[in-house]
Amino acid sequence: MAHKIVIVGGGAAGIGAAGGVKAADPANEVVVFTEFEDVAYSPCGIPYVHGKEIDDFQRLFLATKDAYVKAGIDIRYETRVGRVDLARKVVVIDGHGEEPWDGLVLATGFDYADPGVPGGDLDGLYYVKNIREAMQWDKILDTVKVAVVIEASPLGVEMTTALAHRGIATHVVDPGPWPMSQVADPDIMAPVEESWDELGVTTHFNTTLQVFLGEGHLRAVQTSAGEIAADLAVVCTHKEPNNRLAAAAGLKIGSTGGLIVNERMATSAPGVFAAGDCTEIPHGLTRVGLQGLTGSHAYAQGKVAGINAGGGSRAYRAVYVPWGTPAGKWIIGGASFGETTATALGIPYVLGAAQGISRARYYPGVKPVMVKLLAEPGTLRLIGAQMVGGEGIKERADFLAMAVKFGFTFHDLATMENVYSPAIGALNEPIVLAAQNGLDRLRGA
Ligand SMILES: Cc1cc2nc3c(=O)[nH]c(=O)nc-3n(C[C@H](O)[C@H](O)[C@H](O)COP(=O)(O)OP(=O)(O)OC[C@H]3O[C@@H](n4cnc5c(N)ncnc54)[C@H](O)[C@@H]3O)c2cc1C
Repeated sequence: MAHKIVIVGGGAAGIGAAGGVKAADPANEVVVFTEFEDVAYSPCGIPYVHGKEIDDFQRLFLATKDAYVKAGIDIRYETRVGRVDLARKVVVIDGHGEEPWDGLVLATGFDYADPGVPGGDLDGLYYVKNIREAMQWDKILDTVKVAVVIEASPLGVEMTTALAHRGIATHVVDPGPWPMSQVADPDIMAPVEESWDELGVTTHFNTTLQVFLGEGHLRAVQTSAGEIAADLAVVCTHKEPNNRLAAAAGLKIGSTGGLIVNERMATSAPGVFAAGDCTEIPHGLTRVGLQGLTGSHAYAQGKVAGINAGGGSRAYRAVYVPWGTPAGKWIIGGASFGETTATALGIPYVLGAAQGISRARYYPGVKPVMVKLLAEPGTLRLIGAQMVGGEGIKERADFLAMAVKFGFTFHDLATMENVYSPAIGALNEPIVLAAQNGLDRLRGA
């Protein structure tokens, strides 16, 4: 029997869900609400247009509005859902009546944490998200001489690099001791800081934001270490789940602020599913709830939520979090967690680390690749990894997440086979070297 599914949110999770509903049964009716003017664009590409690596915002659009009409997905653009009425199974739309549903998917995403300082209402504060706004800001960037990035979060790292590539004098202000200090290890981020230095970025770590100064428009950023004159502040504070609708409807919310869902992405209310940055998902090893994962997680969760809401059956399991991003002239990445998080959570580990190379040492373009592996003492099962290097980080992060998931040990990784072909891979795979070094250290100890 066909269902009518309403989806609130047109980001990665909402669009994944819409596809999932139709995949479950093409006869299902799907209505998607979004506050924005567009869906099916990649927000992930915005920093690279600002940095001029991508020449046009149009390249970030992945499908036309007409393609959704043809696929039978009814998208209501620039339409805000104001309330969810669980008892009557309707969403109440701001100013435009109601929409009934048989099943509901909440995919309301994230907000940047409020910097919580005076001056937050000045012009010249940029929160990177909506592509139409990004197009306007891109024109303004041509006139910006000095910018301050507020917090070296993952997006802050991308935006710092992008603004520096664009030739803007860029400062980054962060209360932590190094970039992405809540998740990344200092030795992974040290080369990134060096390369920012080469790009002319000024870093202000262990420094808190105090006030955005200006009269109508931003003039300077006041910090605990002094004032920075600036035309623009890019606010890259951490992501917080946008769960206003869910909380008002009485859905169960977890300790991170993300909606609690089961493996079917079902919430605490019958017929109501959720996906993406508004949810929290358990880490595969620690079972600790994680909120604000990535766009690829959001899309995959949306697919599962949509399939189940539409009458199908699919599970979304705990996550092992492969991640990666360009940062300065390097690429950083990893899987599960590194030393910083393991230490913060009190998780014991043994370490194997190596500095390897990405291609044969004589092949043009060869780049360094540093790999750190964390294993459980005793069993030597891999529990996490972090890397910094010039290429091949993404593929290693994806592989290492699977290695954590399936319990590969230092012994497995030290003896794994690898591709050797001068232009694409070195004789000695850096992961193998790191695992071998880990075993040697233990023997030495
Ligand atoms: C600049 C930038 C760079 C990124 N880079 C990467 C990257 O490199 N790799 C990666 O994997 N991910 C990246 N991401 C993805 C990001 O970090 C999130 O994980 C992802 O956007 C989450 O998708 P979502 O659908 O859950 O939420 P969102 O993208 O936040 O979408 C939320 C949707 O809900 C709608 N909405 C909210 N409330 C209402 C309401 N009341 N009524 C109607 N509509 C509503 C909004 O209009 C929006 O369509 C990036 C994001 C940004 C902004």
